[in-house]
Amino acid sequence: MSARKTYRPATLLVHQGMDRDPATGAAAIPIYQASTYHHPGGRSGDYDYARSGNPSRQQVEEAIALLEGGVQGFAYSSGMAAIASALSLLQPGDHLIAPDDLYGGTYRYLTLILAEQKIEVSLVDQSDPQKVEDAVRPNTRALFLETPSNPLFKVADIRALVTIARRHGLLTLIDNTFMTPLRQKPLELGVDVSIHSATKFLGGHSDLLAGLVTTADPELAKRLKRHQNAFGAVLAPFDCFLLARGIKTLKLRLDAAERNAGVLAARLAGHPAVARVHYPGLADFPGRKIHSAQATGAGAVLSFELKEKAALAPLLERVRLPIIAPSLGGVETILTHCWSMSHAAIPAEAKTKMGIRPTLLRISAGIEDVEDLWEDLAGGLACS
Ligand SMILES: *Cc1c(COP(=O)(O)O)cnc(C)c1O
Repeated sequence: MSARKTYRPATLLVHQGMDRDPATGAAAIPIYQASTYHHPGGRSGDYDYARSGNPSRQQVEEAIALLEGGVQGFAYSSGMAAIASALSLLQPGDHLIAPDDLYGGTYRYLTLILAEQKIEVSLVDQSDPQKVEDAVRPNTRALFLETPSNPLFKVADIRALVTIARRHGLLTLIDNTFMTPLRQKPLELGVDVSIHSATKFLGGHSDLLAGLVTTADPELAKRLKRHQNAFGAVLAPFDCFLLARGIKTLKLRLDAAERNAGVLAARLAGHPAVARVHYPGLADFPGRKIHSAQATGAGAVLSFELKEKAALAPLLERVRLPIIAPSLGGVETILTHCWSMSHAAIPAEAKTKMGIRPTLLRISAGIEDVEDLWEDLAGGLACS
């Protein structure tokens, strides 16, 4: 594994940690659909029981560690399982600081489940580092980041926040789903734990739920491993196979989708029915300078606000190409009505306070021909 660390990302994606089956030489790691492994003479070999580890899962766990510069990777049955498992490092009485604009499922987990576990959470506008520092209390133990945030694309300065976290001895965790390991490498910027919903770009085909975590700290890796094995929300072998297959083409898919997102963002920004476009690739994007200092691309997701609420229903009726759904990161374009879909778990008043309006839509650009996508979208907007 260490010998591969020198390869460039496109090569790593294809060869990952294990690029052929050690037992047979097969070009794809087989789906090791076994729950337990023989102990020759009663002695445990490389694998003993599938929850603790198996070759199918090892492949994707090594892949995420290699891609982000971690010492070890961990694969879970969903992005939320990955987030919950990483946050299980916290204890009752601890206080966590998280963004005030974040994935709806994470909001639900932080505000409902952590509250039940007597872990306090403050949701703070992380685009202002001072606000984060002001939120630190004597019992603050961790800082959770998501940048660019979802769905309003607020940018947090990762380096500045890591500096604050270190000053106060806080564990830092980041949801790096939107940027992927190709566009943003949080561990290199000093973040302790990087988390992905691999359901999105890493899987890439809208046919899988998965979560990945990695860390560069061997002590944290040991604790994460212990929690993963004890808690058991591991990724199943078949899903590991799908994820490993998806990861191989991440660069091709993301490059194409990001190009499409750039075109759609620029054209939407000039459309009379559109009030605002949030996309890190636009020249007037407020967080552009900080974003480009910590990420190598704008990503393939954007959001935009309609001028008139009346334009929403006809748009959703008329578009044919995008799937209208929560989620992102697939080869197909996905159009999300954030209010009722991705952020449905957040109460209406809280959404309004966060700045999420019913006229906000999110587009995860796919890899279709962008002219077809634009004709479809423009047709949906025109009839309003
Ligand atoms: C989808 C998503 C999650 C949750 O992942 P699941 O795989 O659906 O559990 C977490 N964070 C972000 C940014 C997401 O987009």
